[in-house]
Amino acid sequence: MKNSNFGDDKPKIRILANTYGTFGIDDALSKDADGIGLLRSEFLCFEKGDLLSEEAQLSAYKSVLCAMAGKPVTIRTLDLGADKQIGCSEHYNEENPALGMRGIRFCLTHPEIFRTQLRALYRASVYGNLGIMFPMITSAIEIDEIKKISEEVKKELNKCSIPYSCNIKTGIMIETPAAAILSDELCKSVDFFSIGTNDLIQYTTACDRQNAELEPFIDKTYRAVLRLIEITVKNAHNAGIPIGICGEIAASTAFTEAFIKMGIDSLSVSPQNIPKLRSFIRNMY
Ligand code: PEP
Ligand code: MG
Repeated sequence: MKNSNFGDDKPKIRILANTYGTFGIDDALSKDADGIGLLRSEFLCFEKGDLLSEEAQLSAYKSVLCAMAGKPVTIRTLDLGADKQIGCSEHYNEENPALGMRGIRFCLTHPEIFRTQLRALYRASVYGNLGIMFPMITSAIEIDEIKKISEEVKKELNKCSIPYSCNIKTGIMIETPAAAILSDELCKSVDFFSIGTNDLIQYTTACDRQNAELEPFIDKTYRAVLRLIEITVKNAHNAGIPIGICGEIAASTAFTEAFIKMGIDSLSVSPQNIPKLRSFIRNMY
């Protein structure tokens, strides 16, 4: 088979782990994950029932980076709102929370919360191989705003002589149809893409991911979503940036061959799914 992942007939796809805050790191290590592809940082807040201070975040991120000993660790900034609420995100009282103040929209609306997290992430970056990923992106305007705030945070750290790594990779989640369609533009502003199929399926099929009654209405071949993924992979690779999948579908072996043929660079899955996925890929060729 000829494609970008099969130089010598062996898949070069990386198998990464998804974790809920720090929960899952031990499993990721015991399953020998190639890194952490998605650390859902909002789960650190759920454990506490509140936002974490900069110091508490620093300590959590540092512990993960040290434990992973140089392997890539991608931490997603707070994806609060919709199905993931804590006190400060709950007061929006929206009719359509999934289409509301969630993910990056919440962080850009509360820059003080965002800055605190970015400071903690930058400070932690000296302890390992950090990637920072932003959820629910729909346009380059959000990326510009993120960059502006990130530069300000870096300047503050420089002013206080607080060290941070110069090698932090910055990426976005492709989990809205807008981001997939605009991926040829968005790829110019970031170091990597990660496809969040849980939300990409929800927003593409217009089926609320929390409404089990809609199950029969979802085409399980995910044809529309696969087309969006294919477009996004092509655009990422044309720009020379890596692209992974971190939604649940990444663990579904029914799609593994399709993803590998497309040229997906990594699949990030729950640690317990790593051995099954690895052996499936090994047995494919
Ligand atoms: C996704 O949307 O696919 C994803 C990985 O993020 P979450 O499930 O946390 O929304
Ligand atoms: Mg998501």
